[in-house]
Amino acid sequence: MQFSKFGNKFSQHSGITQLMDDLNDGLRNPDAIMLGGGNPAAIPEMLEHFEDLSRRMLDDGSLVAALSNYDGPQGKTAFIAALAEMLNKTYGWQVTSKNIMLTNGSQCAFFYLFNLFGGQYDDGSFKKILLPLTPEYIGYADSGLDPDIFTSFKPTIEHLDNRQFKYHVDFDALEIDESVAAICASRPTNPTGNVLTDEEIAKLDKLARANNIPLIIDNAYGVPFPNIIFEDVKPFWNENTILCSSLSKLGLPGVRCGIIIAQEEIITALSNINGIVSLSPCGVGPALALEMIKTGDLLSLSETVIKPFYQKKAKRSIELLQKAIPDNRFKIHKPEGAIFLWLWFEGLPISTKELYQRLKQRGLLIVPGEYFFIGSDLDWDHTRECLRMNYVQYDDAIARGIEILKEEVEKAYAES
Ligand code: PLP
Repeated sequence: MQFSKFGNKFSQHSGITQLMDDLNDGLRNPDAIMLGGGNPAAIPEMLEHFEDLSRRMLDDGSLVAALSNYDGPQGKTAFIAALAEMLNKTYGWQVTSKNIMLTNGSQCAFFYLFNLFGGQYDDGSFKKILLPLTPEYIGYADSGLDPDIFTSFKPTIEHLDNRQFKYHVDFDALEIDESVAAICASRPTNPTGNVLTDEEIAKLDKLARANNIPLIIDNAYGVPFPNIIFEDVKPFWNENTILCSSLSKLGLPGVRCGIIIAQEEIITALSNINGIVSLSPCGVGPALALEMIKTGDLLSLSETVIKPFYQKKAKRSIELLQKAIPDNRFKIHKPEGAIFLWLWFEGLPISTKELYQRLKQRGLLIVPGEYFFIGSDLDWDHTRECLRMNYVQYDDAIARGIEILKEEVEKAYAES
């Protein structure tokens, strides 16, 4: 069958789709240890909260109302108004309902945004999305209607105590010209757990303004919800910023709710796209979140349940990893947020794609780092020496996984 250009691009079974299939079906092996995917943890207090909340909303009719009605293309009005009020109260921002719209998951928001700004323009020019620091979120990689809509820069590496390191934006290398349409960074970053410092964000904001382009900040793990951020950094928004949040990492990936906060012109454009692509975004997540704003649970559960849960898990996983693999060539990116650890095996004689295959043979699934260096053809050994491990699984699965990883890494190093 013949497909259009769009069809050919988006129907391909790319390497990453294959990888995600692997991760998703757990190798069809019930004993597989899944330290790969991005599903949030099943936190018992959160599950209980969602159960109670759904029951209450069934009783008062608001859940069935959300199930049985379309919202407008901008998304549920009452939730948008309550969110604007909450953000203004919490951070002193001056956001109105005209600055917020909803999508079916923030993945969908990035598809809209990257294609709103990146790609072919009427004047014949071609513009790209600049990722100021790779590795960056794998989900961006294939989202352009046009190929090659990303350009990116490698980071500088700060070596820290305790076999940890941290990436920074290399502002000396960063070049922005008229071929760049927007800057985008996830904060906290999937896959590394890096959190761009306040200073880095301020510099990116300045650069964006100076070049008259927006700064897109992917806040899927950030504040005020789900608040999986362990550094004391300031939330950031202004009229030139496009801030994208999500209900997924709160524990609600199934409701597919993404939230975009931006200047009115962009919100209007994106709402129109929403209307064409999906009529209106799903209303169930916003209905649940509206109740959580009214009761104060959205902020308090993020702060007192979600954040400490992941922080404890990250700490425990690092202890297990460092004890199991005492080799000085093994380093971990400082975990500053999100739900992953980024592991660096310096000088590993095989690529992490090869290591991934060997680990898979032994029933352990961890994502090889190569896939996260989007928008560049870097000839840099580092891109083949890192793995992304999620730490949301139960402790005994993580411990078994680390044991397998240790054995396979030792074997690989012995091959040099
Ligand atoms: N951004 C980042 C950094 C992510 O890690 C994810 C999902 O893992 C998303 C965006 C998309 O999430 P969702 O579409 O569930 O909101």
